[in-house]
Amino acid sequence: MSSTQEIRIAPAAGPGSPAGSAEAAQPLLSVRGLSVSYAPPRKGTHLGTGAALADADLDVSPGEIVGIVGETGSGKTTLARATVGLVAPAAGTIAFAGDDIGGLRGRARRDFRRSGQVQLVFQDPLRSLDPDLTVAELVREPLDIAAALSRRERDQRVVESLQLVGLDPEAVLDRRPRQLSGGQRQRVSLARAVSTRPRLLFCDEPVSALDVSNRNLVLNLLDQLRTDLDLAVVIIAHDLSSLAGIADRVAVFYRGRIVEQGPIRRVLEDPAHPYTALLTASAPSVVQEDRLRPEQLKSAADAPTWPAERGCVFAHRCPFAHDACADQPPAQTLPHDPARRAACHVAATWRDRLAPDAPHAPHAHKESA
Ligand code: SF4
Repeated sequence: MSSTQEIRIAPAAGPGSPAGSAEAAQPLLSVRGLSVSYAPPRKGTHLGTGAALADADLDVSPGEIVGIVGETGSGKTTLARATVGLVAPAAGTIAFAGDDIGGLRGRARRDFRRSGQVQLVFQDPLRSLDPDLTVAELVREPLDIAAALSRRERDQRVVESLQLVGLDPEAVLDRRPRQLSGGQRQRVSLARAVSTRPRLLFCDEPVSALDVSNRNLVLNLLDQLRTDLDLAVVIIAHDLSSLAGIADRVAVFYRGRIVEQGPIRRVLEDPAHPYTALLTASAPSVVQEDRLRPEQLKSAADAPTWPAERGCVFAHRCPFAHDACADQPPAQTLPHDPARRAACHVAATWRDRLAPDAPHAPHAHKESA
């Protein structure tokens, strides 16, 4: 998307819209206090020295599209991998349709993964699809693993799944990944993922390797699949532009923490966390009533430096950092908007500090620090 192209924000959820009904529904996925570490646990803390995800709360309702956005290494993919059972949580719970799946181990965990109720579409189909298998074999493989249908029903399901993603089965069934275009490969990945008729689909950067026309096709396809299959979709992205037109809600990740989440339109128009504000200010096509400039949201060059490993995860870049930020703030519901949460000690007041004559304006705070 060019810098001059306006980001299309999905309509605000109304009572009759999918997002409106999703807000009212019981969550399909409910993640609470989820922490994941790829390093050995530190004695007494249950967390390793390199926590990839810390204390994450996230709900996803049936038929809802949730975007999760953040820089590389911010914990987005880790949350997806923990939910599909590829990594074990160090702490917290993952409930799917009311069942605790985060606590599954051994055979129970393997059986849940094989059931195909939660599927993950990987970022690069050329690397994730076995180059030696035909499209028919690739789409059929999850059904063979789940072993829930007869041979004939599986063949039928393969054809239906390819049709669902807009591919002509006769034209592609016998082809191999390298004989397909990038857009077709991404569709095959999606057909493979939905062949088991999952209830929840994680898509890791589904459009980052595609050109603009194929991006829009795949995003529209995800929107169609959620309607056709009553599918909940979590789209992982590193930029807001690929989420703004499709997601109902967004969760913003920074260095292993969810720093803000809520209905995407409200988050983009009026961000509550300084990092989200910086993201939206750096995307000129996001429409905001009181538009901020990126330089208003960056620390001054002479600002005191914060140790990256201490306190709020954003403190080392935050122009509003103050003594209280030595403690990581928990994500809290915004007083003026119960559908939104932000992890910032001054989520409700940092904008006041932007005014040049305000007593806590960034330059005044830094000068007195
Ligand atoms: S808690 Fe402090 S450092 Fe963190 S974002 Fe808020 S003001 Fe900035």
